[in-house]
Amino acid sequence: MTAHAIFDADLLRRYDRPGPRYTSYPTAPHFTPAFGMEELLRHIAAGNASGRPLSLYVHVPFCESPCFYCGCNRVITRDTRRGEDYLEHVLREIDLMGEIISPQREVIQLHLGGGTPNFLSPESIARMVERLAARFRFSTRADRDFSIEIDPRSVDPADMHKLAAIGFNRASFGVQDFDPVVQEAVNRLQSVEETMAVMEAARAAGFRSLNIDLIYGLPKQNNAGFGRTLDTVIAARPDRLAIYSYAHLPALFKPQKHIHARDLPSSEEKLGLLALAIEKLEAAGYVNIGMDHFALPGDELARARDAGHLHRNFMGYTTHATTDLVGFGASAISHIGNSFSQNQRDLDDYLGAVASGKPALQRGLSLGADDVLRAEVIQQVMCQGEIDIRAVEREFHIDFASYFADDIARLAPLVADGLVEVDAMHIRATPRGRLLLRHVAMCFDVYLPAHAPAEFPARVDQGEERPVRFSSAI
Ligand code: SF4
Repeated sequence: MTAHAIFDADLLRRYDRPGPRYTSYPTAPHFTPAFGMEELLRHIAAGNASGRPLSLYVHVPFCESPCFYCGCNRVITRDTRRGEDYLEHVLREIDLMGEIISPQREVIQLHLGGGTPNFLSPESIARMVERLAARFRFSTRADRDFSIEIDPRSVDPADMHKLAAIGFNRASFGVQDFDPVVQEAVNRLQSVEETMAVMEAARAAGFRSLNIDLIYGLPKQNNAGFGRTLDTVIAARPDRLAIYSYAHLPALFKPQKHIHARDLPSSEEKLGLLALAIEKLEAAGYVNIGMDHFALPGDELARARDAGHLHRNFMGYTTHATTDLVGFGASAISHIGNSFSQNQRDLDDYLGAVASGKPALQRGLSLGADDVLRAEVIQQVMCQGEIDIRAVEREFHIDFASYFADDIARLAPLVADGLVEVDAMHIRATPRGRLLLRHVAMCFDVYLPAHAPAEFPARVDQGEERPVRFSSAI
């Protein structure tokens, strides 16, 4: 797949339609409470028998102050005792799951997300990781990924050394925009100096990969200010960058009611911000990994993409393909075998379930054969930008052209617009289609209602999709 994406403003404007980000297929709105513990245990038992390695995710829902653009499941508080109480419940949940998941299975990926994981002290995080290590078998391989999301506003740079000593080797820093006018409009005041100090400390502590998150389309954002932010971030040379589109959905996310629609950039201006980001990042040597993501050419994601080994899960793009993902904490999502399951999303419901000694399962889904096949096809689109038709036929024992006849027909307008090329062996996004991969994937999604498009916000937990109708995507 070519790394180069062609920015075509006219096409992007015409395809400014909402759609899922496909961190899972089917997406989270299709999870159901009918999926119960018995079903989950069946999938866990099959995973134990397979010996598949594990990815672990822990959700920490607390933040000290609300960023107005945020769509995460988080609780705003400065009371650190709430974090300590939460930790006790997570430890209990780790014990519960440790009894049903085989301790022989190797943990090759650990991610702490939020909310703000560094709301917990390094000592509390160390307790959590020690408990995980006691219940599961942590890999000792050099390429294991232990990552943590960091809010640079609320971490002491010296803590990065403590986190490295605990075992973390990747960190992701929320920035969004350094323009003070934008920061005030979104209630997130964060200096360049404090951010760079934390990044430098992480590098000195031995973190092998650093990521920065930016958002375009925020209130009061313009090319001049966002351009300065991009220059500052590029000068810091993070290994990876995620650049998300802000979706204004105040009916769904209450904090967004503080953002005035009149302060938002127009669709034209927003496209200009995206174009600026792509231009500056490519000029600085970053390559487009897939939707919203860029990396330096030597980064593992870039190499995995070139080798055709890139995958996508609830934590975004990853090099780890065949793991079962086990989520801990309120709202955490697990992907075990051919199932998705999600913990109680309400904090009190989560605490209550765990306190009573029960797993905190709220809802989930067992995938049918068609789901598994389409998940693979959509994964290929989102990660490689192309579908290897023969490989799909071999793996699933189907005739691709007849099985996907309706889906291929849905691709026709994209082919006519030069976004996709179809031949007997491949369905491939062209450089023009590289920024519209989700539109290619949507052609293979049988869950999408034909007449009721849904919008999906940028900053959500574990990539959880929560739709709302009739809103602009760019
Ligand atoms: S953006 Fe991050 S720090 Fe801000 S409220 Fe959302 S989860 Fe918390």
